[in-house]
Amino acid sequence: MLAVKVYRREAEKVRKKLLETGVLARGYSVKREGEYVLFPIVRPVEGFEIVEVEFEKIPKRPHSYREIVDVPENLKSLLPSSFDIIGDLAVIELPGELMPYGKDIGDAILRVHGHIKGVFAKGSKVSGTYRVRELIHLAGERRTETIHKENGIRLKLDISKVYFSPRLATERMRLFERVNEGEVILDMFAGVGPYSILLAKKAKLIFACDINPWAVKYLEENKRLNKVENVIPILGDVRKVTGQIKADRIIMNLPKFAHEFLGEAIISVKSGGIIHYYGFSHEKNLFGEHEEKIMLVAHELGKEVKILEKRKVRPYAPHQFNIVIDFAVF
Ligand code: SAM
Repeated sequence: MLAVKVYRREAEKVRKKLLETGVLARGYSVKREGEYVLFPIVRPVEGFEIVEVEFEKIPKRPHSYREIVDVPENLKSLLPSSFDIIGDLAVIELPGELMPYGKDIGDAILRVHGHIKGVFAKGSKVSGTYRVRELIHLAGERRTETIHKENGIRLKLDISKVYFSPRLATERMRLFERVNEGEVILDMFAGVGPYSILLAKKAKLIFACDINPWAVKYLEENKRLNKVENVIPILGDVRKVTGQIKADRIIMNLPKFAHEFLGEAIISVKSGGIIHYYGFSHEKNLFGEHEEKIMLVAHELGKEVKILEKRKVRPYAPHQFNIVIDFAVF
């Protein structure tokens, strides 16, 4: 193939020029010969010495595990295009037909994503009070504890013992932007602290409650890991502290059951304070039923409510969304 031959000292300048003019041939390794560098080109250019040289092709790195995984042709369309990455672990949702190929899928993920050390399949839906799921080990390390980096904080957690979703990172940053300096916050369902630890950078004090002892153990560890002192972990049912705390802001990140705790939240927020209420709903009625419930509970407690913002947070299942409603209570 054709090549431009230049002195080594001019190589970088020439490379840029060839690139800008679209002459540099992509996908080949540049050659060095003594004091010369040889660039592969797609057509001759004036002003340079042109020679004929054999170049080695640069092996193409696959972008997705789907390009290299070995599964029967008729199942390829079922391979998920994405999966969750939590720290250095991957969690993928596989349809039943692909489970017999779980090890090959896991190995392919490990090969493409060098920083992933263990791959697991979702073995059940998130369920129970602790909102955890079963996991099936597919490939790599069997370890389930990891450190996840998100929004500038580090969160240590065990994916088999606590709830955690990296898909909420943007939502947590949205709340961070809403928080004012000096606020007292109640994180009713805190988990390992992805909201509390982040918001602690702005708030005065955060009460972070969770009923899962593993979540609170990691929350305490995450306080240390992030050198955060203004978060108070509380282990147990949040109902034992609601009413005793008066917060400027309350986070209700328990979408499946948050509606059952609305009264507890409303009696724990200061007048003019804000509640971030999360729920699940069908795309045909994203906010209606949740809003009605909020209004009803507030009315029963003799409170006024002003809806501030309503948003889809993320898709949750076909035609289902995780939603958030921000409202002020007076
Ligand atoms: N906010 C965390 C996050 O974003 O990762 C965790 C959210 S997870 C959906 C809900 C959490 O609520 C779980 O960690 C669960 O253990 C906790 N939980 C469930 N019922 C509770 C209750 N009655 N009181 C306190 N925590 C509870």
